[in-house]
Amino acid sequence: MDFALTDEQKMLQDMARDFAENEIKPHVEEDEKNEHWRKEIFDKMAELGFFGFCIEESYGGNGMGFLEGVLAVEQVAKVHTSWRMPFNMQCWGPALTIQKFGTAEQKNHYIPKFVSGEYIGSFAMTETDVGSDVAGMKCRAEDKGDYYLINGNKMWITNGTVTTHGLLYVKTDKDAGARGVTCFIMDYSLPGITRRKIHDKVGLKASDTAEIIFEDVKVPKNLVLGEVNKGFQMCMTQLNSTRLGCSAGALGLSGAILEESIKYANERSQFGQQIGRYQLIQQQIAEMKMEHESLAALVYKAAWLKDKGVPNVMETSMSKLYGAKVVVHAANECMKLFGSFGYSDEYPCGRFLRDSKQFETLEGTSNMHTTIIANTALGYSPNLA
Ligand SMILES: Cc1cc2nc3c(=O)[nH]c(=O)nc-3n(C[C@H](O)[C@H](O)[C@H](O)COP(=O)(O)OP(=O)(O)OC[C@H]3O[C@@H](n4cnc5c(N)ncnc54)[C@H](O)[C@@H]3O)c2cc1C
Repeated sequence: MDFALTDEQKMLQDMARDFAENEIKPHVEEDEKNEHWRKEIFDKMAELGFFGFCIEESYGGNGMGFLEGVLAVEQVAKVHTSWRMPFNMQCWGPALTIQKFGTAEQKNHYIPKFVSGEYIGSFAMTETDVGSDVAGMKCRAEDKGDYYLINGNKMWITNGTVTTHGLLYVKTDKDAGARGVTCFIMDYSLPGITRRKIHDKVGLKASDTAEIIFEDVKVPKNLVLGEVNKGFQMCMTQLNSTRLGCSAGALGLSGAILEESIKYANERSQFGQQIGRYQLIQQQIAEMKMEHESLAALVYKAAWLKDKGVPNVMETSMSKLYGAKVVVHAANECMKLFGSFGYSDEYPCGRFLRDSKQFETLEGTSNMHTTIIANTALGYSPNLA
């Protein structure tokens, strides 16, 4: 879809598509099989400026906004959904959050390093016992005068075994709920940190995921981002950006599924003609196509609203929730359309289905986004920028 895109945006799309086709595609099967996060792909993404969307040029940003970022994520995710992740882990997670809430010193030090890929980023809220209820987190930081002492665990952390620095959300007042959360710019070389890679995930196999355990980790006070106990709001602001990255990933995957399905429907013949000529197959293709185009409109609109700085939390949630519905439906239909070949690893239908399921859980489950949309539409919560 290239509705109303400028020539520059179309060029960016082409560049991202070429990169994904030339640099990522040759490794998809091998990296899926070996659950391998490939550093050279990450480095190349940094080189192309993919970690600089929405970042001020003085910190190394690329002068482009969410809409352009979404176009790049879409092209990359279309080839291999695992590689949608670094946009969030570098740019819309740590770098943009530090740009919004950091001190001048923090901004000057950290943002250029996340943008250049010198620091490998992450953000960590989820724990073994705490997912959707972010304010219920238990990992804690105790004020010890000169430093904070961190103890606890974080679970399901993307880039968990490779991250050098990232946003770590912890409790600094255990009885204060959302008002007791603080964000640290964590340095993962500090002593007391153990990381355990999570193997055998259903999908996102070339994305690194880990549990991280903190045991008496001494953290200097200048690593607090913004004010102590004000981290919950930062977390929600961060999620409102990284969720859009997720929606763009769903859009890319939906495009890949549609393309492969159309190709196969034209190639495969039964009863003397292409299966694409049968009305029931046409219904599948028509639904996939309509849903894909509708998703594109929602994702691009949410990005556009963000670039304008106007309320967009509900629109971002709609793009995220609808993205999950669209890809899971499309992946299901795709596997049916391919018949038995869909059930073999010779074709990508299995990967599509496995990768589609991430969108129902990551960056807020479908239930949580339904709640956000309904509460905003009903007027119970404001639609924030
Ligand atoms: C591959 C992968 C990568 C990830 N990367 C990161 C990362 O980088 N950083 C990070 O912090 N986290 C990360 N996560 C964690 C992810 O964001 C959480 O798993 C997600 O927020 C859901 O939390 P949970 O799994 O604990 O589910 P739970 O919160 O336990 O939810 C279980 C079920 O209950 C439902 N539910 C819960 N509360 C309600 C409610 N109030 N109303 C209705 N239904 C409800 C949910 O919708 C869900 O269906 C990652 C997860 C995966 C799988």
